Amino acid sequence: MKDVLTTCVYCGCGCGVYLHEDQGRICGAFPSRNHPVSRNNLCVKGWNIHEFIHHPARLTEPLLRKAGHLTPVSWDEALTYTATRLTEIRDQTANQGLGVLSSAKCTNEENYLLQKFTRAVLKTNNIDQCARL
Ligand code: SF4
Repeated sequence: MKDVLTTCVYCGCGCGVYLHEDQGRICGAFPSRNHPVSRNNLCVKGWNIHEFIHHPARLTEPLLRKAGHLTPVSWDEALTYTATRLTEIRDQTANQGLGVLSSAKCTNEENYLLQKFTRAVLKTNNIDQCARL
């Protein structure tokens, strides 16, 4: 069992949190005593931050709605469909028909890449994320 220091991703406070790892699974969380922001404290979201990682309802493969039902598809099919539809919508709406909502469960680097994609490829500033609050 080992503990890994990381940053809580649920909001912009950036509390320091240790994750318990045991045999390849994250099984608990506790606050960093010396962290300059959180100083040995976490809110209820931080104490439970590990629960989504191995949650059985977490999506593990791409799904595409076919005949009204979400159907597992390959990454190639999902990405091709998504790129085609985003391009169509962007071009039909003069860059104003799309908006992007990012996730606090992404890393800072992933969120940075998403805002670059939104502005440079989708050509809109319609992007937001809950952790900016
Ligand atoms: S959600 Fe709670 S524990 Fe996580 S960074 Fe925000 S205040 Fe800290």
